[in-house]
Amino acid sequence: MPQDQDQEQDPDRDPGRDDRDPFGWIDEEAAARRRAGLVRTLRPRPAASPLLDLASNDYLGLARHPAVTAAAADAARLWGAGATGSRLVTGSTGLHAELEAELADFCGFEAALVLSSGYAANLAAVTALTARGTLIVSDAANHASLIDGCRLSRAVTAVVPHADPGAAAKVLDGHEGRAVVLTDAVFSVDGDAAPLDRLAAVCRERGAALIVDDAHGLGVLGEGGRGAPYAAGLAGSPDTAVTVTLSKSLGSQGGAVLGPARVIEHLVNTARAFIFDTGLAPAAAGGALAALRLLRREPERAARARAVAASLHERLTAAGLASVRPDAAVVSVRAPSPEAALRWAADCRAGGLAVGCFRPPSVPDGVSRLRLTARADLTDDQIERAVAVIVAAAPAG
Ligand code: PMP
Repeated sequence: MPQDQDQEQDPDRDPGRDDRDPFGWIDEEAAARRRAGLVRTLRPRPAASPLLDLASNDYLGLARHPAVTAAAADAARLWGAGATGSRLVTGSTGLHAELEAELADFCGFEAALVLSSGYAANLAAVTALTARGTLIVSDAANHASLIDGCRLSRAVTAVVPHADPGAAAKVLDGHEGRAVVLTDAVFSVDGDAAPLDRLAAVCRERGAALIVDDAHGLGVLGEGGRGAPYAAGLAGSPDTAVTVTLSKSLGSQGGAVLGPARVIEHLVNTARAFIFDTGLAPAAAGGALAALRLLRREPERAARARAVAASLHERLTAAGLASVRPDAAVVSVRAPSPEAALRWAADCRAGGLAVGCFRPPSVPDGVSRLRLTARADLTDDQIERAVAVIVAAAPAG
């Protein structure tokens, strides 16, 4: 039997562990998590929560909008609870086609492809648009689904410092052959925006493609919520692909890739995360389509979400809290430790407020945070109340 050196050196290994228990190592990892204060648990939320919601990604307050829920219910009645198959077999309905056409038109791209989640959209885009030998230049703060796309691809990934187009340029300059730059448009932990215009220029000058994950920009940034690429003048760009989720500002579920028609056709034919996955449930497609139409009719929702974020940030900063200046609808407030963040979030909950709590490993820099969602439908009174609760519960120091 070969010796497993990794196991020999594992500092968490319990010397009394039963070697015949194939899951014994799980207990050791769980104990290490408990010691580090990093245990996660699922907490089902009640349908009618008494808490003021600053934790969800329902940026525009559309998840429960009657037009959205009615469209989802109608779609389920007409097409069934599930899509019944992959998109290339039985899983494409007229709703999927309408949603794709309207999403592409709204964001200013030639074509779109709807997938079962934003996560799948990122896996699909990154794996289908790269090959062995492609260089991927990836921002250090990119979302896990982009990172997993890099891992699944057979490309070489160079991770560059956060929001640093100069660093991206330098790496690209040292490479010959196909290259792709990957970035979140709005970073999910701190809510800061990527320098898309400068990244696009770096790519254009070097013949690299740009893939932008606009999960947090769609519905919030750009004219009427058309997204960060639209705001940066990248709509219709022939060398840019954009991924979005339907689960945040559109209040539904699912994801999409937008871009030039030839890119979308390539994905349909080669993206494994698209081809081998059951199509998006009709209810989710119908709900997202209704939300998109609402956003077109009520473009002020996007501006309101941004205004709520700015207001939360200003008030929290004025109270001495370390709030990061928000570029979209995510407001991040730093906490001194994971334990303090957890206690802070629990105290907010006791005060009637649901907030997000980000701890390692979700935060690669190790700094725990409260993550607040600046929902467009929050009233000024609710913002004031939320700030009062967060400030009252803040850890000392
Ligand atoms: N990209 C980013 C930046 C995200 O924050 C998320 C959701 N957390 C995703 C992609 C994945 O989207 P979905 O939840 O639709 O799978």
